[in-house]
Amino acid sequence: MKRVSILGATGSIGQSTIDLIRRDPTAYDVVALTGGRNIAQLAADARMLGAEIAVTAHDDLLPELRAALDGSGIGSAAGRAALIEAACRPADWVMSAIVGVAGLAPGLAALEQGTTLALANKESLVTAGPLLLRMARAHGARILPVDSEHSAIFQALVGEDRAAVDRVIITASGGAFRDWPLERLAAATVAEASMHPNWDMGQRITIDSASMFNKALELIEAREFFGFTPAQIEVLVHPQSLVHALVGFCDGGLMAHVGPPDMRHAIGYALNWPARRPLPVAALDLVAAGPLEFHAPDETRYPALRLAREVMEEGGLAGAIFNAAKERALDHFIAGRIRFTDMSAIVDEVLSALVATPEARNDAPTLDLVAHMDHLARHCADAASDTRIL
Ligand code: NAD
Ligand code: MG
Repeated sequence: MKRVSILGATGSIGQSTIDLIRRDPTAYDVVALTGGRNIAQLAADARMLGAEIAVTAHDDLLPELRAALDGSGIGSAAGRAALIEAACRPADWVMSAIVGVAGLAPGLAALEQGTTLALANKESLVTAGPLLLRMARAHGARILPVDSEHSAIFQALVGEDRAAVDRVIITASGGAFRDWPLERLAAATVAEASMHPNWDMGQRITIDSASMFNKALELIEAREFFGFTPAQIEVLVHPQSLVHALVGFCDGGLMAHVGPPDMRHAIGYALNWPARRPLPVAALDLVAAGPLEFHAPDETRYPALRLAREVMEEGGLAGAIFNAAKERALDHFIAGRIRFTDMSAIVDEVLSALVATPEARNDAPTLDLVAHMDHLARHCADAASDTRIL
């Protein structure tokens, strides 16, 4: 039996992970499930899977969670410390699928136990890549990428000599506004930005796909996880979302990973690794899929890509600053306080204000330093948003 925990179990990735696990109840022993405000879902899944403990991030929801689990024998807890404690429970495999930098500390705690961490939470690598890799090395823990592009690169590299890799290409659907006239973008609504052409994901990552902040995070994620130089990592817009990434070798060959846009493939690969097992993912009909197109991204439409290149060149804590500013700008956009196009302008402003500070120039950050820069960048992003309030 494989002992598994799912951090962010009630979200899009968490639910897809549960879908895989519940199909094979004899193979998995479920340790901890964590969630946020959706207590009914968290409790129902904990009961269905016979988890040891269910944890909500919100202290005020503990009575509701206790009541929902009454008579089940399943433990319950709430709050940040309880999330970390859940991540530390002995397990063979932990899914890191909390959204945002909130996923960093629980993921680090799991690595500290030597556990295999299936990493969907891209913000962990963006904000604290060196810290995460150091923690994994120090405790003999393994990180398996779950973001579809990074899983694709990981799969294309199996059996290859890393020194023979010249470049990698990650693809982007182009998001909700790929074909919109540029002048309409400023007026884009939250509802319009929340509709993805190909993938069914959480709201925040869907809006980040429309702005390409998601791809920007993924560029940094690829640099941190695989150690490619910024110049080696390219982005192509691929509207069909069937080729997830390509790895280019020194002999001119390109290995492409092709699959349907269903996160259960990447999650299942990490769950079964190093084996491959059948997954409930539709077989791809390449004839029905029609032509596959690739375009260079337009950085006027997607300024987030230029900002990601700046972050990769800066190094240090630039990723933590970038992510925090982006998270706050996204909060303000979702709350209807600023325009869609203000998000990249705000992140640009915050980066300019903070990346050159001495404390941002630290290539071996601690969790405390990341939290400090995150705090400063949020404050700065709020101030930059205030000047743009609609
Ligand atoms: P989601 O919003 O659907 O779910 C997020 C989960 O995190 C929920 O369980 C929620 O309760 C929990 N959560 C939210 N805020 C929290 C906090 N402050 N503390 C503790 N828990 C909190 O998000 P998602 O789309 O499943 O994405 C999860 C992560 O995976 C993100 O980092 C995202 O970038 C990454 N990712 C998602 C997809 C996808 O297809 N959805 C693909 C690749 C990568
Ligand atoms: Mg992705």
